[in-house]
Amino acid sequence: MRIILLGAPGAGKGTVAKVLTKLDGAVQISTGDILRGAVQADTELGKKANAFMKAGDLVPDDLIMDIMKDRLQEPDCKKGFLLDGFPRTIPQAEALKTLLGDLGIELDMAASLEVPREEILNRLSTRRTCENSTCQAIYNVKSSPTKVDGICDKCGSKVIQREDETEEAITHRLETYCEKTAPLIGYYEKEGLLMTVDACVTDDVVKAIQARLKT
Ligand code: AMP
Repeated sequence: MRIILLGAPGAGKGTVAKVLTKLDGAVQISTGDILRGAVQADTELGKKANAFMKAGDLVPDDLIMDIMKDRLQEPDCKKGFLLDGFPRTIPQAEALKTLLGDLGIELDMAASLEVPREEILNRLSTRRTCENSTCQAIYNVKSSPTKVDGICDKCGSKVIQREDETEEAITHRLETYCEKTAPLIGYYEKEGLLMTVDACVTDDVVKAIQARLKT
């Protein structure tokens, strides 16, 4: 499968992507995870991206496209991919279209995960993330806590609240989403690729995507 997962921060794109990767070997590509890894490793990319991310702003399109041009040509993408958090602007979507055209790859769909704002705010303020950049497992203090308080079940590293998940940064990220990313819903509708799905329950999203893939 070759799918774009659209949706506000906290809509569950990463969680849905992780379930879908288990179905047919498609790989999850999260630009947020790649960037956080680069910040932790203090690479040139990480240095450039850090301030934008901390403030809850988008990282410039050219940096993101440099990452994605390389990433989409890696061998593990041959079985398919789930784009989680990319594209996030119309210029990124247009550049992706050109890139996929050059690579001879067709998308199956852009699934827009819809969750009410109240639920998003609730999810983001209670979300915790494994600080290990190669793991980045996601937990929720209320709905899916770690077995041992503050320790990742998968790799044993510390589980933290992300710097961009303070109330102020969350509010700003949601504003950025409405202004810069939500227009992608109309973009993919025009492209004939849009599927909108109520994303309050992960299983429902997975089933809806599977059903659409069969049509
Ligand atoms: P995420 O984990 O997807 O919420 O991303 C965390 C942060 O990384 C965002 O708030 C942005 O600062 C940056 N980021 C991730 N993906 C993109 C993208 N496609 N375009 C621009 N910035 C991005």
